[in-house]
Amino acid sequence: MTPDIPKYQAWRRRMVEQLRERGINDMALLKAMGKLPRHWFFSDTLLDNFLYDIDRAIEIDCEQTISKPYTVAWQTQLLSLRPMMTVLEVGTGSGYQTAILCEMGARVYTVERQHALYRKTKELLASLKYSAKCFLGDSFNGVPEMAGFTYDRILVTCGAPEIPNGLMQVLKVGGIMVIPVGVGEQRMLRVYKDGDDPSQWRVEDHGDAKFVPMLQGKNF
Ligand code: SAH
Repeated sequence: MTPDIPKYQAWRRRMVEQLRERGINDMALLKAMGKLPRHWFFSDTLLDNFLYDIDRAIEIDCEQTISKPYTVAWQTQLLSLRPMMTVLEVGTGSGYQTAILCEMGARVYTVERQHALYRKTKELLASLKYSAKCFLGDSFNGVPEMAGFTYDRILVTCGAPEIPNGLMQVLKVGGIMVIPVGVGEQRMLRVYKDGDDPSQWRVEDHGDAKFVPMLQGKNF
């Protein structure tokens, strides 16, 4: 693992400064993004200042694209997260977002449908001593291994065709889901589950978003 030398620390300070200027003001989030070396989550051949460019998404294995830092910050801020909350993340990808949630004190459950990414990122997160629980699956209905469990927050990091009913079922009453919804391009939605009945679900639109699609099934 590439050490966190002063060059990276300086890039990270600049990244946090830019996020602040762009309206990110969740202090716990800014602290986590300022602390966590983002370059640990990408292959050594990618080590460059663009890893800390707030508007640069990065290609990784399995033809997946990892959210740019601004998007990670934007989605996380919309979650209104507090320590000890349980969070289901859909789309583990590089594990960067997972680690940010852990740094903020959340108890994180994360699901990835690409087997190679699941395996690699699970190992990486364990080697960094994060206690996030990683699962392989498509998560349209939550996580089968966690049947009966409900989450305070759900964060979807791929574009869903619609708000998956199965995910709403595993969101606690009083909980919040942040999810990009749409085919091709999406709208970033924040959904409040004020009660079990769908008439008690409130949807807030937070504007344009562009994510890789949320797909059915596992991919070996
Ligand atoms: N949170 C990630 C972003 C990953 S990009 C990070 O910080 O790196 C989105 C990821 O969602 C991809 O890895 C893709 O394989 C995964 N994905 C797509 N559909 C999915 C589904 N139905 N269930 C779980 N993961 C899914």
